[in-house]
Amino acid sequence: MPRKAARKHVFVETDGQVYLVRDRGTFRFPRTDEKLPFRTDPNGTMDFGTDQVEKRTPRLDHHPEEWMGRDAVFERSDVDPLVKRAIYTTMIRCVSEVVISKGPRVLMVKAVRGFSKGYWNIPGGFMDYGEGPETGVKREAEEEIGADVSLDRLLNIYVSGFPGKPAYTLGFVYRGHVRSEKFSLKADEIEAAAWFTVDKGLTLTRNPFAKWGLVDFFLQSPDARRALRVKRHGPLEGTRVEGQPTVFLDRDGVINRGREGYVRTPPQFEFLPGAIAGMRLLQDAGWRLVIVTNQDASGWKLVPERQLARIHETMLASLRREGVRISAVYYCPHHVLSDCACRKPRPGMLLAAARDLGVRPRTAWMVGDKPLDIQTGRAFGCRTAWVGPPSWRKRFAEEVRGWSPEVVADNLRNAAAVITKRGA
Ligand SMILES: [Mg+2]
Repeated sequence: MPRKAARKHVFVETDGQVYLVRDRGTFRFPRTDEKLPFRTDPNGTMDFGTDQVEKRTPRLDHHPEEWMGRDAVFERSDVDPLVKRAIYTTMIRCVSEVVISKGPRVLMVKAVRGFSKGYWNIPGGFMDYGEGPETGVKREAEEEIGADVSLDRLLNIYVSGFPGKPAYTLGFVYRGHVRSEKFSLKADEIEAAAWFTVDKGLTLTRNPFAKWGLVDFFLQSPDARRALRVKRHGPLEGTRVEGQPTVFLDRDGVINRGREGYVRTPPQFEFLPGAIAGMRLLQDAGWRLVIVTNQDASGWKLVPERQLARIHETMLASLRREGVRISAVYYCPHHVLSDCACRKPRPGMLLAAARDLGVRPRTAWMVGDKPLDIQTGRAFGCRTAWVGPPSWRKRFAEEVRGWSPEVVADNLRNAAAVITKRGA
């Protein structure tokens, strides 16, 4: 949607000193069309709607004592409010959360207010004034569930932006447990608490820290790793590399033409235009390729799993001849009514790749032609690309809208071109 052209400002800061220009008695940011007396490097953009603020780091050979100190601006009435707003936005928000586990299951709470309203989340919240993350998470979690929480260890620390907000949030995520399951939920904030497997929990939350924390918990918990059963065809290709950029590919409609009545035999498997070129492009740019496919046809016993294996062997052989290596082919042989971890939109196949190959959500993309593929990528906490001819996409546009894929493309080659440009 075209909108009114935004005014563009430059926010230069070093060591807590901010470069401002004096304009009719008011200190303001220079605008992008005004020349600066030093060179700068880009450091992100803040979008305030009609005002865009480019954050830049100066190249200087001295400490600019003569610039204004960032904390001083708030007490002054001769500083443009946009400067105050932008400096305030640079202050990182801190949340602290906990994955409370019982064997392979994790405790989640459903919120009645706030960012997670109507969604499940892991317990925790904003750290209070002067509070450390361990104190904060215990206070928040114990308030929410009304039971003592013991922390076992820090799982990880993450940084994330949130849609529509220019500020960043730092998230500490712990692993912990409770001795008693006699919960007394905080009435005005939490409406339910329940235990879920990691794959199910991932589909229920939209908090990126909860997602990444759940995946890290899964990787560190032998119980959770063992509990996940996902099927794979053929051996794992290549070596396990922690965090290597990976693209998950849906099969039908992305790699091969979908078929009325399913692809039932190897000769019915027909590569789509641009599919092999797209895979080669990704591979040459250092991306690992993993196929994740729902095979309802096996669930309904229309294609026995041995036949499905033959179809996949033929596909892999053709790809090898083209110089394309697939690290793994995961498939779900269940039908739509099964409550399995592997059937997309549950992210069980992606979790299996995290376990087997070292794939990490923050360096992964999911490419698919159906809304459920986009949901699956979102559940895992990675970025997503939606592919298919325009007529196909039109059919599902309404369903996909809520999941806002990062890339929309006509075929895998075009999606790959954007993914390689954006990077991991
Ligand atoms: Mg598909």
